[in-house]
Amino acid sequence: MDCRETCARLEDFFHGRLPADELEPFMEHIRSCGECEEELKSYVAIEVGLEQLDDDSSGVYDPEGTYRDCMERAKTRIDWYLVWKSFQYAMTAIAFWFAILALVLQAKAGLF
Ligand SMILES: [Zn+2]
Repeated sequence: MDCRETCARLEDFFHGRLPADELEPFMEHIRSCGECEEELKSYVAIEVGLEQLDDDSSGVYDPEGTYRDCMERAKTRIDWYLVWKSFQYAMTAIAFWFAILALVLQAKAGLF
């Protein structure tokens, strides 16, 4: 994922709408590209500021904390996505071997 693609996904990332399979390349780019990391931090700071204006709350303005929360949530989503992919892979492998077993048993029973 390059800088242009990363910047186009800042809003979706912040609102947790980035598809799980795009999340990992997005995070990798943010970690390796200082400019995009700064861009994301600025975006988060503006969003947090606007949300507080909307809420009219007197809460503490903490864009750094929100940024850290976003990154933590994204890491957790990636972890679960990888678990899910492993599970899917295991299920596919099991289905494949059951299909082979069924063919062998049918062949042995003289059905072919
Ligand atoms: Zn970049």
